[in-house]
Amino acid sequence: KELTDVNELADEFLRLSYHGLRAKDKSFNADFKMDFDASLPKVNIVSQDIGRVLLNLINNAFYACGNSEYRIKNPELKPTVTVSTKKLGKKIQITVSDNGPGIPEDIKEKIFQPFFTTKPTGQGTGLGLSLSYDIVKAHGGELNVESAAGRGTHFVITLPTGH
Ligand code: ADP
Ligand code: MG
Repeated sequence: KELTDVNELADEFLRLSYHGLRAKDKSFNADFKMDFDASLPKVNIVSQDIGRVLLNLINNAFYACGNSEYRIKNPELKPTVTVSTKKLGKKIQITVSDNGPGIPEDIKEKIFQPFFTTKPTGQGTGLGLSLSYDIVKAHGGELNVESAAGRGTHFVITLPTGH
């Protein structure tokens, strides 16, 4: 573990995901936003592992808000992924939000299970969230989801600062 500036980490992985997806897909048409707490304390984490969690959540978020059926029904919505951070006493929170279709209630309870995916064959392993959950737990933190069908999704990582 090392003391890590999570704002920097989140900035790096949001750009990595955005530019990676844009390079792969010419029709990729999404925005990203950052809303970082400038007073965020550094946290003691395995930054490579938390980086992987961020990448999983951010890739999922871009995928969800790029959903073409949803875009056709909501042409006024620009697909946007927002990463925000905030200090919460001796903890920090990192939130990955999208304005995609949301997660239906009956699916929400399954998304952290290994191999659960709603993506077409070949497009998803269903391992991203289960791995992310384990990594966050191993840091003494929590990974929660807030979502309702049609209202977008927020994944919230809570981590102890560890100092
Ligand atoms: P994969 O991305 O390979 O499908 P994940 O474990 O990352 O596997 O995600 C599991 C499932 O959770 C996805 O297939 C999707 O149904 C749902 N999901 C994850 N993130 C989102 C999101 N931001 N919006 C809507 N559904 C999501
Ligand atoms: Mg995934």
